[in-house]
Amino acid sequence: MKSNILIIGAGFAGVWSALSAARLLDQAQRDDLSISVLAPQPELHIRPRFYEADVHSLKAPVGGLFDAVGVRFIAGIADAIDTLDRSVSYIDANGEHRQIGYDRLVLAAGSQVARPAVPGLAEHAFDVDQMASAMHLEQHLLGLPALPASPARNTVVVCGGGFTGIETATEMPARLRTILGSEAAVRVLLVDRGASVGAALGAGITPSIVAASEQAGVQWLTGTSVVAVDAGGVTLDNGEYIASKTVIWTVGVNASPLTAQIAGERDNFGRLKVDDHLKVVGQAHIYATGDTAWAAVDNLGNHALMTCQHAIPMGRHSGNNAMADLLGVAPVVYRQPKYVTCLDLGEWGAAFSEGWERELKLQGQEGKDMKRQINRVWIYPPAADRALALAAADPNIAIV
Ligand SMILES: Cc1cc2nc3c(=O)[nH]c(=O)nc-3n(C[C@H](O)[C@H](O)[C@H](O)COP(=O)(O)OP(=O)(O)OC[C@H]3O[C@@H](n4cnc5c(N)ncnc54)[C@H](O)[C@@H]3O)c2cc1C
Repeated sequence: MKSNILIIGAGFAGVWSALSAARLLDQAQRDDLSISVLAPQPELHIRPRFYEADVHSLKAPVGGLFDAVGVRFIAGIADAIDTLDRSVSYIDANGEHRQIGYDRLVLAAGSQVARPAVPGLAEHAFDVDQMASAMHLEQHLLGLPALPASPARNTVVVCGGGFTGIETATEMPARLRTILGSEAAVRVLLVDRGASVGAALGAGITPSIVAASEQAGVQWLTGTSVVAVDAGGVTLDNGEYIASKTVIWTVGVNASPLTAQIAGERDNFGRLKVDDHLKVVGQAHIYATGDTAWAAVDNLGNHALMTCQHAIPMGRHSGNNAMADLLGVAPVVYRQPKYVTCLDLGEWGAAFSEGWERELKLQGQEGKDMKRQINRVWIYPPAADRALALAAADPNIAIV
């Protein structure tokens, strides 16, 4: 029986793990090793675009790509990891419980928006975190014209002024007018605990956020937070009630719950601490990558964020290194010192920054052009062409 690398997840880190493992196997010219990807569907979901309209289209098929590079795809959802037995239990596409063994495991199961115990949040708040939930929001928005006209119908409350909240809020006025009519009196509120607009994102890009919010008519409610959600709106911690049929939660994120099944040190997001090769510290056969990994990006104390900017290069390293471990060849150290952000800001444009201090480099339409290039081209998987795909998976490719 072939030794198997099992990758859980077909997101950014999972797809690139599979390709980088296949690349090294191709170079070794060995036929006694195999690579499998276990995920609900052979699709890469483009989560960074889930605040946009037409959510159903924001995915890329990867079945042909896996076939081209010799990766086996298994449709299923993992529910248990046995690290002693080296096996993973999963529910297959027919609802049957199954088990698969591994010689090396790569955990690439991503993350989920946090859902704290705010009363009514679970029942009444939408999010843009996963394809299903973003489509649920879109269906709701498309159904607004059927509701009786009211300020609550035309009001969207976005909870959280981080990257996702800002992108969702600044895109929303145009989305609402497309649905409710160009003359509709739409209202978009962004509730954030920070003392000022964009407080958490740094001084460099704050002026862009202020300008874009003003142009789009997004109203910030700063220094406050949501303490309850119900079918008619939200209650703030200052007692104010805002009537709204659409409340979108964007605050906080947790690594996949599968991380909890692997012994090891974790950060506040539940991410597993990994070494320079992305192997889970204290585990001999398990790698964590993408949003499940707490990984150093440099020697200065910076760590990877939960972004596909980090998940893609991490995938190029984790798959390579899992395969290197099986082949008995040297792994490649993961380092990604360059950090950029590109914040979409609706019709105003976007703000592109470089460095951990987020120094503004491009804004407005120039920033938007960069955002489109990143979100519509660079983060998509390569074509199902074996040679091209394997070449693109080289962990030594210069990052960003
Ligand atoms: C609205 C939004 C905007 C964002 N904007 C940006 C941005 O501008 N720039 C940026 O770099 N990042 C952005 N991100 C973050 C980025 O999308 C994530 O960091 C990235 O998707 C992480 O990649 P990943 O491969 O680790 O996880 P994911 O892309 O989440 O992939 C996880 C994979 O694991 C599978 N999976 C999960 N659980 C199981 C299970 N139990 N069994 C089997 N398979 C499982 C999933 O189906 C999926 O295939 C944004 C995210 C959101 C939601």
